[in-house]
Amino acid sequence: MSVDCIFCKIVKGDIPSKKIYEDDDLIAFHDIHPISRVHFLIVPKLHIESLAGCEAQHQALLGKMLLLAPKLAKEQGLIGFRTMINTGREGGQEVFHLHLHVFGGSDSLPRV
Ligand code: AMP
Ligand code: ZN
Repeated sequence: MSVDCIFCKIVKGDIPSKKIYEDDDLIAFHDIHPISRVHFLIVPKLHIESLAGCEAQHQALLGKMLLLAPKLAKEQGLIGFRTMINTGREGGQEVFHLHLHVFGGSDSLPRV
């Protein structure tokens, strides 16, 4: 738990979110500024700053995040989807609590 972290506050329930999933390790909720018709975030309850802050002990947690993505995407009606983890300011990260973006459902996504 990091006191000023917005995602820690969502995990604790101190600020609201449009939650679609929760278990002992993870929470998932809709992004407040969606970039696609469907756009949600998979977030570990543990405060880890970014993918660059992950260590071997987080391997199972990272795997769990990835495996949850297609399950929730299907539940949200997506056939195909894109996943993204922005890492560090230069990687476009704005919230410094690890999260996996999952989005899709618009006509087409730009090539990357
Ligand atoms: P990133 O740039 O990868 O750090 O992405 C942070 C994401 O969190 C952005 O897509 C924001 O729209 C989203 N976001 C920020 N605050 C909230 C919030 N309170 N509830 C849901 N999504 C949020
Ligand atoms: Zn946090």
